[in-house]
Amino acid sequence: MYCNACGKAIVDDGRFCSYCGNVVGNPPIAKKLIRSRVDRKIAGVCSGLAHYLDLDVSLVRILWFFITFISGVLPGIVAYLLGWIIIPEEPELKPVVSAHQPITT
Ligand SMILES: [Zn+2]
Repeated sequence: MYCNACGKAIVDDGRFCSYCGNVVGNPPIAKKLIRSRVDRKIAGVCSGLAHYLDLDVSLVRILWFFITFISGVLPGIVAYLLGWIIIPEEPELKPVVSAHQPITT
């Protein structure tokens, strides 16, 4: 990878150029805990959590079921309902055409 500002070779996963301090690559996107619209079984709470925590959705669901049952079912259901109420739903996806797609080859 090369710095956009000074053109020097820099490490591929670097966020800043070590020569000029220019921000390179894709800026880290602030993660938001949202409920997924597309990947959901009930209300998207588990998949929202999975995306937020960078975990597999199935793993989060299995964990949720496991924790729910060892905690006497009700706490898990209450937690899920709270997540459903508190966690905002992912905004509806609209096709976005960007003229500034980063070139990733
Ligand atoms: Zn640079």
